[in-house]
Amino acid sequence: MTTADPRHVRIAIIGAGFGGIGAAIRLRQEGHHDFLVFDRGSEVGGTWRDNSYPGCACDVPSHMYSLSFARNPEWSRSFSGQAEIWAYLRRCVTDHGVQPHLRLGHEVQGAAWDDAAGHWVIDTSQGRYTADVLVAAGGPLTEPSTPKLTGLETFEGELFHSARWNHDHDLTGRRVAVIGTGASAIQFVPRIAPTVERLHLFQRTPAWVMPRADRAITRVERSLFRHVPAVQRLARAGVYWGREAMAVGFLHPAVMRLSQRIARQHLNRVIKDQRLRAKLTPRYTMGCKRVLLSNDYYPALARDNVDVVTDAIVEVRPNGIVTGDGTLHEVDTIIFGTGFHVTDMPMAQTIRGRDGRTLAETWRGSMRAFQGTSVTGFPNLFLLLGPNTGLGHTSVVFMIECQITYLLGMLRHLRQTGAHAIEPTPEAQERFVAHVDRKMAGTVWSQGGCRSWYLDENGRNSALWPGYTWSYWLRTRRFDAAAYRPVSTPDRPAADVRVGAEVER
Ligand code: NAP
Repeated sequence: MTTADPRHVRIAIIGAGFGGIGAAIRLRQEGHHDFLVFDRGSEVGGTWRDNSYPGCACDVPSHMYSLSFARNPEWSRSFSGQAEIWAYLRRCVTDHGVQPHLRLGHEVQGAAWDDAAGHWVIDTSQGRYTADVLVAAGGPLTEPSTPKLTGLETFEGELFHSARWNHDHDLTGRRVAVIGTGASAIQFVPRIAPTVERLHLFQRTPAWVMPRADRAITRVERSLFRHVPAVQRLARAGVYWGREAMAVGFLHPAVMRLSQRIARQHLNRVIKDQRLRAKLTPRYTMGCKRVLLSNDYYPALARDNVDVVTDAIVEVRPNGIVTGDGTLHEVDTIIFGTGFHVTDMPMAQTIRGRDGRTLAETWRGSMRAFQGTSVTGFPNLFLLLGPNTGLGHTSVVFMIECQITYLLGMLRHLRQTGAHAIEPTPEAQERFVAHVDRKMAGTVWSQGGCRSWYLDENGRNSALWPGYTWSYWLRTRRFDAAAYRPVSTPDRPAADVRVGAEVER
């Protein structure tokens, strides 16, 4: 152990993506320096490091999809590409002094609350660390999900997931199968379609696709943002409220009819072939699954070298994929655009609470957390983008910022009350979950007639926040001390702690 590499810290953060970096910046700004950020990768960036597929970009405007306390006046487009977002995150690290706190190449293999010691024991690929507070910022879109197709292991060609793109595999002149038609696939399909010899796109459910209003941000605008920060803040506010207005449709599905008309016109304008148009027409209410934005997806599907295959996949053979109608689609490359383990995130299997059970064992298929961040039985654990704090309509970076503010409030509470460890009361957690479930019942995610990745194995939507983001901001702008109880540690019996004490701001 050296001072340069402390093995015990006040706060350990898992993950150096938007959540981990954002938390690190705010911690430093608030005077916390005793913390480390672990990441298994050799570079920071999280999902924006891992997803490097052709065409990868964000479909939330950059002025909103960035940290309000790490302003970037230089965004080149309204919807920035992966390279620019990743560069922004790397710059955040250097500009805000986060570098010394990073422990890259440290894969967290397990974290367990040690009741006797009153701290978290964190096992990484580079050895053991301990911390008083654990912030899990692994992110929901981290672990690629690849379907277990019969015969997949016999395939003799190249296969990879969109989040692990094999850039060494030249697709020129290849016969390629793409499985999945979600937000990732609709971005890379138009990029690879002109290069490959033949593209078989295996679609299980057609998605609603809206036109994408992307444009370059002019030099004049950028100069204005640089020199008059208030203008950029105004632009951000404009995007924020525009996006909040879109939430109305998700919360009141009947309103979606108007948007569906726009999306149908978009489809009909490009796809003239009636059979293809029928294949691409969604049969659920818009918003039930993520609404996709693209101007080049439909034109790519109209190409002569692209087939949209809607028959179910039966098996994979060494030289291709067989569908229910008996057709063998001969391919030499399979690309999975099949999404991520979201409601069954592997990190939940590695974090153990007071009773020795993991989050996954505690949740039994349905993630639950007070404010989407704190879990009963897991003292001083703080989840960033935890249960029910994902979004369908706007920037999750906003939710991350709300949670970081709440985390800072919790740290202040610990300091001011003298508590060493706290956790939410079971009643507070149940009340929060009941509120979320009640709100969710009327939304398009419940009523829209689809099966989305937002739903867990119990059929409960444990991924999304069922409301406006300002309502989440209202809930989290102050730490809710009354919802927590102290947890006894050897040096600090719970009885000595002032429960629910008010925290100065
Ligand atoms: P996704 O939205 O989960 O889409 C997965 C696709 O794979 C769906 O079309 C799904 O079909 C299909 N699929 C899954 N298992 C299958 C199987 N066994 N057989 C056939 N098809 C199968 O994944 P994603 O496209 O990677 O996107 C995930 C999320 O990442 C997005 O929702 C979004 O939040 C985020 N993202 C955002 C952007 C952006 O900002 N532009 C870009 C990429 C990703 P079904 O629909 O039938 O299930």
